[in-house]
Amino acid sequence: MIRASERAMGIEYAIRDVVLPARELEKKGVKVIRLNIGDPGQYDFQPPEHMREAYCKAIQEGHNYYGPSEGLPALREAIVQRERNKNGVDITPDDVRVTAAVTEALQFIFGALLNPGDNILVPSPSYPPYTGLVKFYGGIPNEYLTVEEDGWQPDIDDIRKKINERTRAIAVINPNNPTGALYEKKTIKALLDLAGEYDLPVISDEIYDLMTYEGKHVSPGSLTKDVPVIVMNGLSKVYFATGWRLGYFYYVDPEDKLAEVREAIDKMARIRICPNTPAQFAAIAGLTGPMDYLDEYMAKLRERRDYIYRRLTEIPGISTQKPQGAFYIFPKIEERSRWKSDKEFVLDALNEAHVLFVHGSGFGYAGEWHFRIVFLPPVEILEEAMDSFEAFMKKRLAG
Ligand code: PLP
Repeated sequence: MIRASERAMGIEYAIRDVVLPARELEKKGVKVIRLNIGDPGQYDFQPPEHMREAYCKAIQEGHNYYGPSEGLPALREAIVQRERNKNGVDITPDDVRVTAAVTEALQFIFGALLNPGDNILVPSPSYPPYTGLVKFYGGIPNEYLTVEEDGWQPDIDDIRKKINERTRAIAVINPNNPTGALYEKKTIKALLDLAGEYDLPVISDEIYDLMTYEGKHVSPGSLTKDVPVIVMNGLSKVYFATGWRLGYFYYVDPEDKLAEVREAIDKMARIRICPNTPAQFAAIAGLTGPMDYLDEYMAKLRERRDYIYRRLTEIPGISTQKPQGAFYIFPKIEERSRWKSDKEFVLDALNEAHVLFVHGSGFGYAGEWHFRIVFLPPVEILEEAMDSFEAFMKKRLAG
């Protein structure tokens, strides 16, 4: 047998792991309601018309060549304008890099920061590629707690406890996947103070920044004075174009502390040549164009969030926080005597109620005895899923 690398074989991704048993059931003719993947394009959400037109037009007009490694100048200028308007950051196109979505930005940033044995502070629970990619680059994911009773806000004292001499950065995901948390301004300020104390950069994942329900998103990039912040964003969520694989990141680094990291990242960017050229034209259209589609989409998402939250609060044996952003809800399994783990619970719900969730432990240790539900589908589908799940819970608790 030809052996594969330990680095690649060690990769785990809970969100897709649960798909295999679901597929087995479907092969037997069972209809499974899949609430496991955060992809709006699989439901009634599409990128707005002006972006789709710009993408097609770019291809038709011949923009099918390699572009600059750092991204097209016109897009980097559009990103500067968008981020100045949203976050009031004082940046120039030179601070911006365009990537194959946030996932490639993470690869660049972790690749440029980590030597073997270094660690990055990542939230627990968190979107799994954070731990997966840190490990892939030889690092150790150093998980910090977020506090459920406090709407899943980061525990600043826990972050302080976990900083050590090999810590290279603090990552924040806000609004959060999988918890739907929206971080308060005072939390972001405390986090920046702590990062400043230990001379650490902050990596801020803002892919859901305009997808909030009650409050407004606050970026560490907008509040920093001297702490270097790397902000990541892209087309996948707020612009509903997951499959286009386009994103960006920028440095807010008033004291130029990231000069060497920037150089390392640019080396990584050059060996992968460039991001998708025609998709960058679509991104220019999206970032400079009208945003009224978002109001319509957020109204749908709010209705779905309110519905699933209400239903879940009525189901015995679980409790849940109300999501303030993104399109995930992360209930807690209160009644634990019936299952050995959250994974067993999710598989039981799949086999019995035919609804597919993701087990919380797949998002880190603080996710244990929870599960994540994606509430992107229309209310009729959520209703069918919740009716079936409610019947399952009542049966299990009675049995
Ligand atoms: N970051 C977070 C927090 C996410 O939830 C996701 C996707 O679900 C991503 C990044 C992936 O983003 P992209 O499609 O830009 O790679």
